[in-house]
Formats: sequence, structure tokens, C-alpha cells
Amino acid sequence: MTGRRPRRAPPAPPTGVLDWSDRRHWARTQAPCRYCRAATFLRDDDGLPADKVCAETALAQRAARTAAAYQNGQL
Ligand SMILES: [Zn+2]
Repeated sequence: MTGRRPRRAPPAPPTGVLDWSDRRHWARTQAPCRYCRAATFLRDDDGLPADKVCAETALAQRAARTAAAYQNGQL
């Protein structure tokens, strides 16, 4: 026994949420969230200021709208 713990792979983010550990999601300066206008250091996938909750809610709403449009034959 070496006394060392086996290395574990980092946990994969759950489906439907963004990986906020990525540096591109963080900025040095605060800016108003594009959805609720509260000051945030976070940036969404488009590089625009967005809180974690706001960005993930918008992502879920967009996915739901796309799924609904697909089911209605609009896509
Ligand atoms: Zn927000």
C-alpha cells in the first residue's frame, strides 16, 4: 500500500446545465445580467453577462420551445 488515494476523474456536469468551472464563463469585471440586470461576473456561452440561474433557465426555455416547435411540425 502506498497511502495514496486513486485518482478520480472529475465529475461530469449533469445534463442540461453549463460547466461553470470553465474560465470563459468568468470575467474580471461585473456587468448587468442580460436577463435580470443584476451585476454578475459570470458570462454565458455567448460571452454575454448572465447569472448561472438565468442562463440555465433561458437554456431550458429555449430547449422546450425548440422541442415544442419540432413536435408541431414547425421544424
Ligand atoms: Zn440574471
